[in-house]
Amino acid sequence: MRESIPSGQLSGNVLVIGGGIAGLSAALEASEAGYDVFVIEKRPYLGGRVAQLYRYFPKLCPPYCGLEILFRRIRTNPKIKFLTMSEVVEVNGTAGDFDVTVKIKPRYVDIAKCTACGECAEICPVERENDFNYGMDKTKAIYLPHDLAFPMKYVIDESVCKKEECAKCVSVCKYGAIDLNMEEKTINIKADSIIIATGWKPYDATKLENLGYGKYPNVITNVMMERLASINGPTKGKIVRPSDGKEPNIVAFVQCAGSRDENHLPYCSAICCLASMKQATYLREQYPDSKVYIFYIDIRAPGRYEDFYTKVKEDENIVFVKGKVAKIEEGENGNLIVIAENTLTGEKTRTEVEMVVLATGMKPELSDVKIPLKEIKLDDYGFAFDVPGIYSAGVARAPSDVASVVENATSAALKGIQYAKR
Ligand SMILES: Cc1cc2nc3c(=O)[nH]c(=O)nc-3n(C[C@H](O)[C@H](O)[C@H](O)COP(=O)(O)OP(=O)(O)OC[C@H]3O[C@@H](n4cnc5c(N)ncnc54)[C@H](O)[C@@H]3O)c2cc1C
Repeated sequence: MRESIPSGQLSGNVLVIGGGIAGLSAALEASEAGYDVFVIEKRPYLGGRVAQLYRYFPKLCPPYCGLEILFRRIRTNPKIKFLTMSEVVEVNGTAGDFDVTVKIKPRYVDIAKCTACGECAEICPVERENDFNYGMDKTKAIYLPHDLAFPMKYVIDESVCKKEECAKCVSVCKYGAIDLNMEEKTINIKADSIIIATGWKPYDATKLENLGYGKYPNVITNVMMERLASINGPTKGKIVRPSDGKEPNIVAFVQCAGSRDENHLPYCSAICCLASMKQATYLREQYPDSKVYIFYIDIRAPGRYEDFYTKVKEDENIVFVKGKVAKIEEGENGNLIVIAENTLTGEKTRTEVEMVVLATGMKPELSDVKIPLKEIKLDDYGFAFDVPGIYSAGVARAPSDVASVVENATSAALKGIQYAKR
């Protein structure tokens, strides 16, 4: 495991910002070609948002298998060093000679000593919203980010921890791993090139007032659905309605929730149609009597994904309705009324369902959070272009599925290593 806070003047050929599937793929490609790489990740674990998915379309296999393979390659590769809870705060210099300042937030848990036994969390009296499960449950202030986290180490949420006033965790930790006096550190890394792999965040569904998210508890988003279906999710993999824990037997998916809309995200996120079809299979598998409606403008399942679409369509209990949803209203007993116009028949429809899933799109992380790179060039939506010595990978570059992300991460690595000084 190559995470310890380094000191002295550090240098690497490639510095990767973001430790999701894109950043890790780029880092591995560059390091396996013989170059030294640093990965800077702001969360307390690697893997990015793929770690939060239940299954991958089209094969419906667990994404964690692929991530585990990447983690194994990282563990055994001395050329990759990664830092979690870290962010780039300043970049000077030019391609071939960047000087990068990185701020490392305190974890309050010594990575070398923590065995992830969990006794600290058992005694911790403070709770926090679990961001990994999109706020659908809670963890203690000292927590393991998720049960397959890499590195598998606890971390303290300093915004809620009472520190020395409580310190119960310190007293139970047999390994002396908890240090409530840990401080923020700043380090400097020299790098020949930089790869931006900062990924995405879900579009804020509360902005879609007509669709009732935040107002009606049984309107959820697609990222929440991934967590509900996951064995390590808030309901241990049982898909239930947030309002009453009932098994939802009639569920509507609303495609392009905010996407391809000048008032929200004007572009297509490329994966939402496939994600909803995949999630329809989660429901149909769990509840064989269930019925799913997918309201869409047009279905985008390019290339080999067409086969997946064809297969999902064969299920007569997955009904595709061509029509944009105008409004969602609350019905009786927590049910919802989906109001749409079927653009094939011209009919205005009111469909009563038990739960609604909004297929919200991917917003580039860089649309809101800037990284201090003078040379960086972003398009109108916040996706990053390549400039000499600075390359983008993954969804930081364009909305894409994982297969495309891995391809463009490899290409970013190839471009990045061309600046490497040996
Ligand atoms: C509901 C849903 C379901 C999906 N299902 C599938 C599927 O089944 N199959 C498929 O192929 N694709 C799927 N996708 C798409 C898939 O999630 C993305 O392709 C993938 O997450 C892109 O990986 P990434 O590394 O580019 O970004 P991310 O996963 O977002 O990783 C980016 C990483 O960078 C870190 N970071 C961000 N900013 C900074 C910073 N300033 N400093 C340091 N670190 C930073 C983040 O913490 C994160 O760890 C789905 C998407 C959605 C919305």
